[in-house]
Amino acid sequence: MTENEKIFWDRVLELAQSQLKQATFDFFVSDAKLIKIEGNVATILLDDMKKLFWEKNLQPVILTAGFEVFNTEISINYVFEDIPIHDNREAAATNTDTSIENLPIVQNDLNPKYSFENFVIGDENRWAFTASVSVADLPGTTYNPLFIYGGPGLGKTHLLNAIGNAVVANNPNARVKYISAENFINEFVVHIRLQKMDELKQKFRKLDILLIDDIQSLAKKSLAATQEEFFNTFNALHENNKQIVLTSDRTPDDLNDLEQRLVTRFNWGLTVNITPPDFETRVAILNNKIQEYNYKFRTETIEYLAGQFDSNVRDLEGALKDINLVANFKNLDVITVEVAAEAIRARKQDSSPKMIVIPIEEIQKQVGKFYGVTVKEIKSTKRTQNIVLARQVGMYLAREMTDNSLPKIGKEFGGRDHSTVLHAYNKIKNILSQDDSLRIEVDTIKNKIK
Ligand code: ADP
Ligand code: MG
Repeated sequence: MTENEKIFWDRVLELAQSQLKQATFDFFVSDAKLIKIEGNVATILLDDMKKLFWEKNLQPVILTAGFEVFNTEISINYVFEDIPIHDNREAAATNTDTSIENLPIVQNDLNPKYSFENFVIGDENRWAFTASVSVADLPGTTYNPLFIYGGPGLGKTHLLNAIGNAVVANNPNARVKYISAENFINEFVVHIRLQKMDELKQKFRKLDILLIDDIQSLAKKSLAATQEEFFNTFNALHENNKQIVLTSDRTPDDLNDLEQRLVTRFNWGLTVNITPPDFETRVAILNNKIQEYNYKFRTETIEYLAGQFDSNVRDLEGALKDINLVANFKNLDVITVEVAAEAIRARKQDSSPKMIVIPIEEIQKQVGKFYGVTVKEIKSTKRTQNIVLARQVGMYLAREMTDNSLPKIGKEFGGRDHSTVLHAYNKIKNILSQDDSLRIEVDTIKNKIK
């Protein structure tokens, strides 16, 4: 992409984000791609069912961005993702060659970071792990469906993606799809609205492996029509010996408000449970995850951490992230128990319900202190770089950490308009998703405020 194309596209996304609800933006806009701009025509790659939405809602955004960046009217040529080629998200993200041939077309939506290799096995997950590996080795022939259930943060999503990644590694042509039940529901609703159900049917029924996460979301009376469609998809795949793997926070029989015939089918294959890791497994998981760090943990530090978080792996990972932040900041070589205890203090408090109300003034004070500007400057109209950053981060945090309304936040930041607050919030949020250094800054400030 040329420099100007990038500026144009960033602006399109920014304007769209400010005008749409977050969920709408995520669904319709976030995975669209600008391919090129030639002769005032922007070529945009989309899922074809999203075209109507773009035509109806985003024309003005494109016009605005076009005039801002190129000072001319930009028109649009939509191209679609319809050829089944498989690729993963990481490849999509790092692909800088934007010719159509080289773009990933149908996304399997696997997260490349989850593999069997980096899954630590303990007694609590051994069965689920083994079953997942056999399913990945011989999809559609061993356990079909495979149903994995267990509490939050115990590795269900990890295993689901690991299955998909292993299958794609063995056979790059395999048609694999990872989708949360929530997104399946979204897709269903959109296809109904656009009267394109046939496309949805085709899309799912030509799969070799369907990996569907958190199926409990589908267990609601109001979702009878979606359940019906899922039932048909399930049958079509199962009849053709295509593999289905499901995860859930409870057993099939406990999925109240799921049609009985679906429950019956979920019980056709193998149901495996994951329970919380015991102390030994927690130590093994921690040891596995700290390998990438370039500082050492004392053995007693690992044991201390394994003792602090005993119900879920996500918390253990979160604790390591806290420590990582501190270690990088203070340039530490060795993590002692004291350092660890200090680093995870906020997280430990976090896990108990908190009733503390944070005053906006406190946020302004801490942000100001961090960026070396005064609260008065934050509230002023000055536009020095540091002051603007402090102001925008402050507004972001005020929205993130307090229950104050946008107008109230605007008022506290020197009588600004609510749209200014929203703009600042979106802008910082956007940068945070791409820029680690700002994220570390913001986390540091947050820790000071809490
Ligand atoms: P769930 O889907 O069950 O809520 P996840 O699969 O999202 O849980 O796991 C939460 C985090 O913990 C992920 O980052 C995952 O990689 C990690 N994790 C969970 N179990 C293990 C394990 N046995 N070995 C390594 N990492 C794990
Ligand atoms: Mg999950």
